Amino acid sequence: MILAAKIPVTIITGFLGAGKTTLIRHLLLNAQGRRLALVINEFGDVGVDGELLRHCAAETCPADNIIELANGCICCTVAEDFMPAIEALLKREPRPDHIIIETSGLALPKPLIKAFDWPEIRARLTVDGVIAVVDAEALASGRFAEASRADGNAPAHDNPLEEVYEDQLLSADLILLNKCDLVSEARQHALKAEIAAGMPRPVKVISLRHGVVAPDVLLGLAAGAEDDLAARPSHHDAEEGHDHDDFDSFVADIAPVRDPAVFVAQLRDVAARHDVLRMKGFVEVAGKPMRLLVQAVGGRIQHHFDRAWGASEARTSRLVVIGQKGLAQAAILKALAAP
Ligand SMILES: [Zn+2]
Repeated sequence: MILAAKIPVTIITGFLGAGKTTLIRHLLLNAQGRRLALVINEFGDVGVDGELLRHCAAETCPADNIIELANGCICCTVAEDFMPAIEALLKREPRPDHIIIETSGLALPKPLIKAFDWPEIRARLTVDGVIAVVDAEALASGRFAEASRADGNAPAHDNPLEEVYEDQLLSADLILLNKCDLVSEARQHALKAEIAAGMPRPVKVISLRHGVVAPDVLLGLAAGAEDDLAARPSHHDAEEGHDHDDFDSFVADIAPVRDPAVFVAQLRDVAARHDVLRMKGFVEVAGKPMRLLVQAVGGRIQHHFDRAWGASEARTSRLVVIGQKGLAQAAILKALAAP
């Protein structure tokens, strides 16, 4: 008897705002006949990424093949959330050709890769590749650098962002330096060299703009990452488990916005004042039939009307706000409530 071939799984990791959803969206729209299935893990229960991806669901990836896991980081909920999601996808008819997993921006990929070494999983699935998406501009601006490296004697990892960022790179088979439209070519070269220098094994780093890359580059790496765990070190290898205590998040329910330009200026001010890492959500603009999609990565804010509100849809304005521990929730809510 010939055993059915294992379904390849691609894990897409990368810090908050690196451009994972945009990358996957492009992949869905250019699937070249592959039947795809998606598992989307998002930090905070606003569900922006799932909503955006379901909206572009195509024949190659029907909405049924998209499963959202919003109950915290996927690395902490492998047994409770991830396994049932995978079981559900494996029952789909026809069977998916390829499964894509988008981890949350704070998730550590290694505990997830380890799950593919479990006997009941490894018999049916294989990790085709782990792809880390990096925000070139955030990297260039020192977002992930050790804050006190300059004084030469601070303990390692004063910056909790650096640890998550490094863990994501260390498990990767391919690194995508995204948002290269925001940095010079010379800077891209320097960033690539910096990334390569930090890797324990050679991994290709590709420059990207707006997540545009041919699917053949991403899929079919045949890495078999579950057989190769030792080559993917993590800052948490010596520990029993891990936590995400360095980060805080909350959902802000806000009033309808009167003027998007004023609102964006407010957000920019909040991001700068309170060192917010990420804000995203859908917002009602008074008098407009369409909803406003807002995406903030640090002080870089994008917004556009993405679609009309549905007739029976509640026009809620909600943003998920993510930052480091100690995030000033009350002050931020107050600033967002101000006219
Ligand atoms: Zn975790």
